[in-house]
Amino acid sequence: MPPLSRLTRMLVAIAAASFLAIVLAYLRTPADRAGRTLAAAALIGVAVAIIGVWFTHSLRANRRYAALLENEVASQTRSLMDSLAATAAAERNLRLVMDAVPDAIVVVDRAATILEANEPARGMGAIPGTTQRPSLFDVVNPDAIGVVQEKLGAAFEGDVQHLEVPLIRADSSHGIAALLYAPVRDGSKITRVLILARDVTDQRRSESQYQQAEKLAALGQLVSGVAHEINNPAAIISGFAQTLLLDELKPEHRDMLQMMYDEATRIGRITSSLLAFARAGGKQRGLVDLNDIARRTFALRSYYLSTLNITVALDLDPSEPKIWADASELQQMLLNLLINAEQALLTVERARTITVRTRADESDTRLEIADSGPGIPAELRTRIFDPFFTAKPEGVGTGLGLSICYGIARDHGGRIWVESEAAGGARFCVLLPRDQREEARAPAVTTQPSPAATGRLAVLVVDDEVALREALLRFLQRRDIHVEGVADGWEAIRLLEQRAFDVIISDVRMPGMSGREFLERLRRDRPDLVTRLVFSTGDAFTPETATLLKESGVPTVAKPFDFAVLERVVREVAGRATASA
Ligand code: ADP
Repeated sequence: MPPLSRLTRMLVAIAAASFLAIVLAYLRTPADRAGRTLAAAALIGVAVAIIGVWFTHSLRANRRYAALLENEVASQTRSLMDSLAATAAAERNLRLVMDAVPDAIVVVDRAATILEANEPARGMGAIPGTTQRPSLFDVVNPDAIGVVQEKLGAAFEGDVQHLEVPLIRADSSHGIAALLYAPVRDGSKITRVLILARDVTDQRRSESQYQQAEKLAALGQLVSGVAHEINNPAAIISGFAQTLLLDELKPEHRDMLQMMYDEATRIGRITSSLLAFARAGGKQRGLVDLNDIARRTFALRSYYLSTLNITVALDLDPSEPKIWADASELQQMLLNLLINAEQALLTVERARTITVRTRADESDTRLEIADSGPGIPAELRTRIFDPFFTAKPEGVGTGLGLSICYGIARDHGGRIWVESEAAGGARFCVLLPRDQREEARAPAVTTQPSPAATGRLAVLVVDDEVALREALLRFLQRRDIHVEGVADGWEAIRLLEQRAFDVIISDVRMPGMSGREFLERLRRDRPDLVTRLVFSTGDAFTPETATLLKESGVPTVAKPFDFAVLERVVREVAGRATASA
């Protein structure tokens, strides 16, 4: 039988008690009265029993119900706790994952308020400490707010957006950030936008350095070809001018010729600067004390600097770093950088300072020249190392200083770049590899002075450039030297079989037989003449020529010739060859 409900049971008990009460009410006789008393007692007993039973029963039921309720509450609480713990774990997990992403992740609403940001975003300055509800615009460079706003609007329309903007980091330093905006959809609505930001400053810098290196390498090739072409005409003009200057001349003619010679020499200096920019190896290197170079170069300019009210601070590495380098080239580089800093400082009224700093670690040596001048505008920075780029007034700048520095740094396996000083000036940094293995190398061998030949010498000139040959012939004849000229190596070999010459001056780059092939022929067929050979060249820095000169050890005269030097070399080579014969 199904158990009666509590209400039913109570109604049954009340009905029974009411029935007994009604029966009692109908009892009228004395016997009835005695019966009534008995019945009343029975009624009360029944009522008490009913109430007791009901009470006990309901007490038990209540307990059961309370236990049930307790169980229910406990189980609900457990499941609530479990789901809370699961939510917290999921949230923590998400945060750990977000923080593990090296890129900055930021979630913003339509008003550009930052709702979420991971740890790298804080590093990039996405959460300024003071603002409670930071806005994306608080961390974007003011110049970029327009584009950021526009792209954010497009992202809320549902399009993924890519952009690059200037960045201000948490430490106030500046850089470039690449941003990706991805709309976050909730059903059909876009409620937020997720922004992924990457600091691409270093990447962009090395890309631009790579592009610059590529551009300058191409320019170097072009420039070296041009310099070579210009050298010959300059050598011819210089040669004839020098020959004519040997004559008795009217003062006016002498002045004009001297000017022609000086200008041809100037062309020679320019081409040699261009070739220095385009050069690749081949110079004498030694163990060089970088601090010493810095001190000596500064000493060269110190008086001039003091007259301009420029204070120079030498902040030199106490370890006195040494590198395997060409000392004169390093000095030239430092001098160019110092002169540029001086000229930049002349344009400012504020305190004029130059700091020359050297630093070294196990692998690299760093040289820095920082000034408090006007600095270099960002749009010029990619051009300043180009040959002939100058922003200085005409007559002041040639645009060659930095391109030569670039060539020297690259030639030493290093690099040069410019940074901005916090106070607005420029800081040129040169990084040169230490190459400690080289420190054990022996110092460069110095050559013994040779006996110079006197009297009438016979010289053979091998050069395909007719006018240059002519200039040489005329000058040497005027200096009482018997001289003959031929256009190439084959003719020279033929002539050498017929006649004896004290010295052979041969061009390196010639059509037909090159200088290298001519040397090889002499080594094979006429080894007795190898010591009588002198190379003439206008591009001693190009890799092939530099290697040839270095390997062969053949004395060299540079075009355009200084004829006095040329004659000295000719007499020395003749004297040495005769002495060793
Ligand atoms: P030049 O000095 O003959 O102009 P450079 O190649 O040495 O040629 O320099 C190229 C340009 O770089 C200069 O014209 C100048 O505008 C800029 N520059 C170089 N050094 C500095 C510096 N320290 N401060 C500001 N501008 C500089």
